[in-house]
Amino acid sequence: MAENKTIYGNINSIKNSILDRMRDFVENVYEPGVFLPAEISEMMIDVTTDINKEVAVFLDRKNRVIAIAVGDDRSVPLPELEGRRSNLRLCGIRCIHTHPNGSVRPSDVDIQSLKSMRYDAMVVIGVDTQKRAGTGVSAAVLTRNESGIFTDFELRGPYQYWKKSALDSVFTELAEKDSEASYFANSSQQVQKDKEKAILVGVITDGTHTVGNPLAELQELAESAGAVVVGSYTQRRETPEAKTYIGRGLAENLALYRQGLDADIVIFDDELSASQIRNLENIIGARVIDRTALILDIFAARAKSREGRLQVELAQQKYRLPRLMGQGAVLSRLGGGIGTRGPGETQLETDRRHIKRKINFLESQLREVKERRSVLRKERQKKEIPTVAVVGYTNAGKSTLVNALCQSDVLAEDKLFATLDTSVRRLVTPDNRDFLLIDTVGFIRKLPHDLVEAFKSTLEETVYADLLLHVVDCSNSDFEACIDTVESILKEIGAENRPRYLVLNKIDKAPADIYPSPRITQGYGKVFKVSAANADGLEELKEQTINYFVKADKTFVCLFPYSEGGLLSYLHKYGKVDMEEYTETGISVKGKIPPEHFSKIEPYLVEN
Ligand code: GDP
Ligand code: MG
Repeated sequence: MAENKTIYGNINSIKNSILDRMRDFVENVYEPGVFLPAEISEMMIDVTTDINKEVAVFLDRKNRVIAIAVGDDRSVPLPELEGRRSNLRLCGIRCIHTHPNGSVRPSDVDIQSLKSMRYDAMVVIGVDTQKRAGTGVSAAVLTRNESGIFTDFELRGPYQYWKKSALDSVFTELAEKDSEASYFANSSQQVQKDKEKAILVGVITDGTHTVGNPLAELQELAESAGAVVVGSYTQRRETPEAKTYIGRGLAENLALYRQGLDADIVIFDDELSASQIRNLENIIGARVIDRTALILDIFAARAKSREGRLQVELAQQKYRLPRLMGQGAVLSRLGGGIGTRGPGETQLETDRRHIKRKINFLESQLREVKERRSVLRKERQKKEIPTVAVVGYTNAGKSTLVNALCQSDVLAEDKLFATLDTSVRRLVTPDNRDFLLIDTVGFIRKLPHDLVEAFKSTLEETVYADLLLHVVDCSNSDFEACIDTVESILKEIGAENRPRYLVLNKIDKAPADIYPSPRITQGYGKVFKVSAANADGLEELKEQTINYFVKADKTFVCLFPYSEGGLLSYLHKYGKVDMEEYTETGISVKGKIPPEHFSKIEPYLVEN
């Protein structure tokens, strides 16, 4: 009867007596509440020592042995359990397995199968095969992200082998996780029903600078695009693989991982070629997109003005053009090209020509829009309204700050690029001076080149602004790198010499003593610490910003004798004269003048 029970994996070289010993365990039920029953672990240590291979035993919550496998083969068929399809629930089965090398920690592959199968736990028994003894035990258990999805793991233990009953408490955790599932099902899952589930993938090359989670930004981008991130993966390699970007082995694992997580899409944190995307889609069996396509998608959804839409479409077409590869280029050499489509010309060729035409059209449209905008800007300049451009890394809080300063409510969203188009707002100071605050599109690391090009014209507002407020989220541990990114984009658009203030935002979330290094602050006239969200420090910022212009332009009323007539031409030359009047006592003048020339008229100032 025992012979009917399957032991999974490659069992060819294993003695029948050993196989039978394992078969005796299959379908047995062990004492409730004992996470790692001694009978099972002792058998596993013995067999591991005899065959010098991993042994895996799969148990359900009732402590029944569902299956046993040898080798690192984890592809045992598991019964379809109630609730297993919901990604808010664990599968109800734990995998207990041995490491013949004695290691008590789960390997990458262990974690990967824990995640993809959503096991209750991945339990490791380290085996010392010299001593035929357990070195220790540990259990990796999945943890939920804020949407309730199992994306990460925690380790229980390692404990010494004789302390293995410490793992019994994992049962309590499992019960808690079960009751949480319905909570998440009712709240977030409802909202997220239609959202695409995404897995993020990044390659860390030796040169990559990494602080914290290297995929944090991609995650924010993916969420901005409306996806739910259900898993993520990074691979360390010297250089990306030509054909598949990541190693082929990892791509194959991703196929499994994706299935387990029921993800719709896999997003890569870099730009991929057309053939890499195709190869990856074939292996993984799901849609694959790269970082650029993701950003373009977000831009497309958010562009509001005509100019913004034109720019995004232009960038999209430029992105598509080199990706229309395949056989078109080869085949077209065979045929002529008379008429709309030559004999050897493929659909691809026509597509390509169509895209080129479209690009030309979009470019000409954009030139017109840009022309119109520069006329508007010149009018503003003629009226001499001071302009302040608010720039900064995406999500730094620019829109929130502009809203707070102007006390109105243009949408601020916790999504990247909530502001896609430059929007100009008017700020009236208490003494009735006007100035304009320009909220700009957020900058971002590795912004695709076509997008920098596309958005240059929008960012031109920045180049012409009188003062830049560079807003940075200083609660982000990587905020100095964000400042550098913004600086390099400012340089690229020719705004590196604009006077600017640094605004450290979100101090409510940052360490109290946070301050950038002198290398960073040297280019800034002033540095402010504010919280746009709860208005901390905003009065000071507003006052100093207004002061900047007041300082740049002091108003005066003076009266000087005719004998000092030369002063009038001086004022006309260096200041701006609003009114001059020839009176009996002298020349009365009203106007504005830069502070460095103020001393000249000081003796003649009058009260007004
Ligand atoms: P933008 O992309 O730079 O325009 O950023 P937003 O103004 O849209 O803000 C991004 C997110 O940061 C929003 O969720 C804001 O509520 C949040 N935020 C902005 N300022 C602060 C702040 O001072 N403190 C905190 N805790 N959050 C803030
Ligand atoms: Mg914004």
